[in-house]
Amino acid sequence: MSSDFHVSPEDTLRVSVLSEALPYIQRFSGERVVVKYGGAAMVRKDLRQAVFRDLALLACVGVQPVVVHGGGPEINQWLKRLAIEPRFSKGLRVTDAETMDVVEMVLVGRVNKQIVNGLNQVGGRAVGLSGSDGKLVRARPWQEGANGLVGEVESVDPSVLAPLLSQGYIPVISSVAPDAQGQAHNINADTVAGELAASLQAVKLILLTDTPGILRDRDDPGSLIRQLTLSEARELIAQGVVDGGMTPKTECCIRALAQGVAAAHIVDGRHPHSLLLEVFTDAGIGTMVVGRTARPTL
Ligand code: ADP
Ligand code: MG
Repeated sequence: MSSDFHVSPEDTLRVSVLSEALPYIQRFSGERVVVKYGGAAMVRKDLRQAVFRDLALLACVGVQPVVVHGGGPEINQWLKRLAIEPRFSKGLRVTDAETMDVVEMVLVGRVNKQIVNGLNQVGGRAVGLSGSDGKLVRARPWQEGANGLVGEVESVDPSVLAPLLSQGYIPVISSVAPDAQGQAHNINADTVAGELAASLQAVKLILLTDTPGILRDRDDPGSLIRQLTLSEARELIAQGVVDGGMTPKTECCIRALAQGVAAAHIVDGRHPHSLLLEVFTDAGIGTMVVGRTARPTL
């Protein structure tokens, strides 16, 4: 007997994800989830839309997402446009005052508003902030100013976020913060996300990036490490398995977990809906770093 009942694979996937989601919605509603937004998910239009929809959906079901972002390629584009010559020391960019002006204008003025607008377009209610707003983040110079106005997180005061979160707003935070003298510093956005997650006692920290997660062999996408404890994560840094841009990510996961965040995830932002897959499915995706060995159960 033939059936007229055709269900597309997309619909099947949508419904199965939804069906699996109920206990997770019940578990995470009212909890804070800090998301570092960057990489391809910020550059590619289709992925951008998917992330905005995921964030709007999380907010819609009562989860309290907090978005932290860096600059992506825009900073370099504007430095080039303004003919500001890059200066490097030991392979790292030195952020002088002129460069910092551009970093701040691009991050706070442009990238932040693009994310806020994107979230609002899909029905979210987003509010843009930088470290200055409500004294959210205080910076101190990174390695005593070795790279100019590159900062570390000195302290976080998340009190400005509580009324926004309780009203269903999605805070979108750019990783620029003033030092004690009011001088703006550029801080690695992973680091800001980790410290915010800790100070908000977030249930999850999710770092979106352009790899499947932490790889045992960074040239082999099949070598994904699905779960790590704090001590295993520290070992991977010490062994040099984790290197480059993955180091601040792994370090901030370790710091966030040590300060009470339940789980930290490094996930592939090139996969559409990686956020929902992480929050709303049993398997999760990417690398999860936990304080203990088992994946936390509901
Ligand atoms: P983002 O823009 O998301 O912050 P980064 O480029 O700063 O990304 O960091 C991710 C990069 O870290 C990867 O592209 C990869 O080159 C590097 N990396 C170093 N060690 C590892 C590892 N063990 N697994 C995955 N990536 C690694
Ligand atoms: Mg990085």
